[in-house]
Amino acid sequence: MVSTVPPGPRTEAPAAEAPAAGVQGHPYEPQADRSSPNRNLTPISTSLDAEGRLAVGGCRLSELARTYGTPLYVLDEATLRATCRAYREALEASYPGPSLALYASKANSSLAISALVAEEGLGLDAVSAGELLTALRGGMPAERIVLHGNNKSREEIELAVNQGVTVVVDNARDLELLAEIAPGRPAPVRLLLRFTPGIECHTHEYIRTGHLDSKFGFDPDRLEPVLRQLAQCPWAWLDGLHAHIGSQIFELEPHRDLAGVMADALALARSLGHPCSDLNVGGGLGIRYVASDDPPSIQEWVSVVAEAVAEACRQRNLALPRLLCEPGRSLVATAGVTLYAVGSRKEIAGLRTYVAIDGGMSDNPRPITYQSPYTALLADRPTAAATETVTVAGKHCESGDLLLKDIALPATASGDVLAVFATGAYNASMSSNYNRIPRPAAVLVHDGIAEVVQRREQPEDLLRYDVIPARFSPVPSAGATV
Ligand SMILES: *Cc1c(COP(=O)(O)O)cnc(C)c1O
Repeated sequence: MVSTVPPGPRTEAPAAEAPAAGVQGHPYEPQADRSSPNRNLTPISTSLDAEGRLAVGGCRLSELARTYGTPLYVLDEATLRATCRAYREALEASYPGPSLALYASKANSSLAISALVAEEGLGLDAVSAGELLTALRGGMPAERIVLHGNNKSREEIELAVNQGVTVVVDNARDLELLAEIAPGRPAPVRLLLRFTPGIECHTHEYIRTGHLDSKFGFDPDRLEPVLRQLAQCPWAWLDGLHAHIGSQIFELEPHRDLAGVMADALALARSLGHPCSDLNVGGGLGIRYVASDDPPSIQEWVSVVAEAVAEACRQRNLALPRLLCEPGRSLVATAGVTLYAVGSRKEIAGLRTYVAIDGGMSDNPRPITYQSPYTALLADRPTAAATETVTVAGKHCESGDLLLKDIALPATASGDVLAVFATGAYNASMSSNYNRIPRPAAVLVHDGIAEVVQRREQPEDLLRYDVIPARFSPVPSAGATV
C-alpha cells in the first residue's frame, strides 16, 4: 500500500506528459499529472528538500508538524487551484454551450476553501445550513450556489430562498415547505429537480446514489406528475434537472448513460412548459488513493459527460442546456495530506505489529466506514527502504480504528512524522470528537508559506455546550484545566 511502486500509465492528453516543476526529483511521483491532480497520490507541489525530506507547497512537512502540532491537515493551494482550473477549462473545451462546475462542499467545507473556489470562478453545492453559511461567508455568490438535501429543514430552505440560492427539490416534503415559504415573494424561487436516474455503478454501497433503491431524489415514475404539479406553481421557476450516480467512480460508462436518461427528462420537462436551462449531472469522479487505483482524468471525465449531453440533446432536438457538474472528492482529495506523530508500538510475535499515531478515526473516519486504503510515507525519510510490515492504528477506543492495514514502512520511532496522502476530501468534513478528541488544525501551503485556515480545537472547546444541572453538587476537581 505504501507507494514504492510508480503509478500506472498516465492519461494520453499531451498536457499531462509535462512533469510538474515542483515534483522533479520526487521518487514516488516522477510523472505527476499536473493537469489532473486526481490521478496523483500526492499533491502536485510535493518535492524533496536537499536532505531528502518531504515538502508540500515548499513547506517541509516535519517542520509544519513541529510548528502547528499533530494531527495536522495540510492543504496544497497549487493542487486545489489546478483541479478547479482543470474542470473549468475542460468544460469550456469540450462542451459547446455554457457550463459551470459546482464544488460539492461536503467533501471539505471551510471559509478558505469556499473563498478559493469562488475566486477560481466555480460555484458550490451545499447540503445544510452550515455548509450554506460557510459558502456565503466565504464569499461564494448566492447565484452560484445550490442547496441539496433529502430532508431539508424549513430554516434551511428559508435561508436559501432569502439569499437567492437555488434549491434542489428532492422530495414532496421540499415542495410542501416551498409552497409555504415561496408564494408572495417578488420573484419566483429558482429550483432544480432531483430524480433517481436508475443507473448502477461499481462503488461502495454507502456512496452509491443513482440506483433506484436510493434515499435521494424523486423516483423516475414520479417525475411527470411532479413536473405537472410544478407547472401550476407561479412561485416556482424550474431552472433544470439534477441527478448524481455515486462517488469514487472509475468507470465512464455510467456517466455516458446518465446523459441519455437526463436528456429524456429534459425533453419531458420542456414539453410541460418548464424553461429548464440547466442540466446538473452531479459528481463522482474517483481519485488515486493507492498506486493500483487508476481513475480517469478530469479531462476524460468532462469530455465524456459533455459530449454525451451534447449528443443526447442533438438526437432529441433540444436546445443545449447549461451543463453543471458537482465534483467533490476529485477537486480536493489529493490536495490534502494529514501529518501524525508516531507514538506507541505493540509487537505480537508471529501475528502483527501495531504502530499507533496520535489521531485516527476521529480525523479520518473513511477506513473504519468504507475500509478505504491510503498511502503513507515517513515525512523525513520518504525514500528509506521499507523493512517491516506494520498496521498503523489510531488512538481511539475502538479495535477497528486502524488507519493503514499491513503497510510496508521503514523502522519507526516514536516522534517520527507520518504523512498520509489524499486526505483532502471526506476527512475534516466527516471528522468527529469521538473520545473527546479535539479536531486538528488545517494549514494551507503555497510557495513556502503556511497559513492556518482552521484553528486547532482545544479540549475546552469541547466543554462549551455541556451543562451540569444546577441541582447537582459541585465536585472538587471542577476547576481543572488542560
Ligand atoms: C456527494 C455529492 C457530490 C460529490 O460527489 P464526489 O464523489 O465527491 O464528486 C455531488 N453531488 C451530490 C448531490 C452529492 O451528494
